[in-house]
Amino acid sequence: MSSHISINSISYQSPTVRTLMRYVRPSLEDVPCLTVLDFFQKNHNVFALPIVNSDGKPLGIVDRQTFVETFIKPFGRELYAKRKISDFMVANTIMVDMDTSIDDVSKIIIDAGMQHMMIGFIITENGRYVGIANGHDLLNEIMHIKQDGLFYLAHFDQLTNLPNRLLFMDRLSKAVSDANRKKSSIGLLFIDLDNFKNFNDSMGHGFGDQILIAVANRFLNCAREMDTVARLSGDEFVMIIEDVKNDQSLDILCNRILESMKLPLEIMGRNIFITVSIGTSTFPRDAIDPSELILKADAAMYEAKRGGRNAYNHFKAGMRLYSMDNMLLENDLRYALERKEFTLFYQPQISVDTGEIIGMEALIRWNHPERGMLTPTHFIRIAEKTGLIIQIGKWVIREACSQHQKWICDGFKPLRMSVNISPLQFYQTSFSNDIRLTLNETGMDPSYLELELTEGMFMHNIENVINVLNDLHDLGVLLAIDDFGAGYSNLGYLKRFPINRLKIDQSFIRGIDTEATNMEIVRTISTLAKAMSLELVAEGVETVDEMNIVESCGCDLVQGYKFSKPLPSAEFQPWRIEYEATKMILHIRQFNLLDH
Ligand code: C2E
Ligand code: CA
Ligand code: CA
Repeated sequence: MSSHISINSISYQSPTVRTLMRYVRPSLEDVPCLTVLDFFQKNHNVFALPIVNSDGKPLGIVDRQTFVETFIKPFGRELYAKRKISDFMVANTIMVDMDTSIDDVSKIIIDAGMQHMMIGFIITENGRYVGIANGHDLLNEIMHIKQDGLFYLAHFDQLTNLPNRLLFMDRLSKAVSDANRKKSSIGLLFIDLDNFKNFNDSMGHGFGDQILIAVANRFLNCAREMDTVARLSGDEFVMIIEDVKNDQSLDILCNRILESMKLPLEIMGRNIFITVSIGTSTFPRDAIDPSELILKADAAMYEAKRGGRNAYNHFKAGMRLYSMDNMLLENDLRYALERKEFTLFYQPQISVDTGEIIGMEALIRWNHPERGMLTPTHFIRIAEKTGLIIQIGKWVIREACSQHQKWICDGFKPLRMSVNISPLQFYQTSFSNDIRLTLNETGMDPSYLELELTEGMFMHNIENVINVLNDLHDLGVLLAIDDFGAGYSNLGYLKRFPINRLKIDQSFIRGIDTEATNMEIVRTISTLAKAMSLELVAEGVETVDEMNIVESCGCDLVQGYKFSKPLPSAEFQPWRIEYEATKMILHIRQFNLLDH
């Protein structure tokens, strides 16, 4: 019998009674009591005597104290001296196999009555006597386990078994004082999973947990035995690297980690790909105080995220310290809606075939009273973490629809309006109904509204998702998959969904003219999209070369800085007028109409 002791959700192997066992030579059942009394008087350390039959099979235990008291009583000796010792065995002696866990024995003893704790019990192997155990030792051992368990609970992350924040801080402080003494350097890595939230939201927390366990193991494999790998919270991990010689040794480690993430993780029978962003800071160069080291590694990590994720960055003077910032921002974010600090920018989408403006994507900006105009990288994460995204998202849809109607009133030809939807928003049971109400209230023609969803939303609770998508489709709005290729890239499910468009993830478009594999990927997606009658949008097109390749790959629409950055509403239509006029001139030139 083996068992686990379980303290909340951690579980580890409880030691077995083997560890408590003492060998006391057993007595045969028919030995007279006087002989045993003699034995106890000579062997003060024996607290109990096991009794066996002639085959070595244990019969019971005689408890020293109870036995000796019998003989101290008047006429004890006269009455009992010649009787067989087996008459004095403790009723219901506990006998357990030596592989029984201490945890199980404790339960057995508690059930049998606590007096057995003092008396002790017999340990057997294959039914034969091998030793006895002392109740006191058992008690000690149990207390030990409890304390270990408490220590473990307090210092280790229950999911990944890595040191938690508390133990990490402790190790970092120790490392700092060691390094101070040895005049050596410490490297600190702050590692954050990219897009982890998408997986967690769409696939459920169980799936997310498995990802965390799997990446924790990858990180451990990248580190040396002496390095500390810890989980700070959520999808944030840290590594302490002692005796760092220079930045290059951190480069090697960071590259090793990024490289290790290129292999798929097998989670619940699926192969998934996840990347990480890493920031590093170095003691004593960047900071001498442990908490400041963390803040700086964190700031460098954010810089890696901003640079497009799946990368690392060393801290450099002047980088903003985001953690502190985030706390302040979170607070401000709570008031931003009522203070009307949000605004939408619009980025045009152009038809590759005709060069015409077909639509636009609405992109949120936060006009922060002190920090100025903030892009979503600064606050969407916080909005999602706090759930504020639901209210913000509702505002975005309403604002985009109202703006669309306003432009029509001003006499502009309507264009398609694409709006980004966050998973949390999508999973609200009222989602499709909210959209219907907004369309009704603003009077917008649903066929001009497009919702940009992400692949991750479709992986979980599929029947429910299909119902919502069908409701939206019935309303007449269009549906697009944003950042396609960045997540699961499972085209199979697309057949089941009423989707109109795919937007290829920017990471495939950026540098498509120099990266052969990117071009291959875009070509493949394009072939599949054509087969399924889906329109393909390439976003993040910045240069003419990128534009040419995107065109040759068969994309239908383009969006990117090559045409325009996202523009405030007041600048959008003037830009459109100018663009259309230039286009007209180019068109005329093309046919040599202007020079004649
Ligand atoms: P996204 O949906 O992939 O939006 C495209 C992002 O790429 C925008 O960043 C846009 O400004 C940027 N971009 C467009 N063309 C180029 C280019 O040629 N080069 C480069 N380097 N970037 C380009 P932005 O506005 O910072 O938005 C970032 C992300 O924030 C969006 O990515 C979207 O996921 C999210 N987001 C934006 N607005 C909203 C919103 O209203 N609600 C929600 N839930 N998310 C939003
Ligand atoms: Ca988008
Ligand atoms: Ca996108």
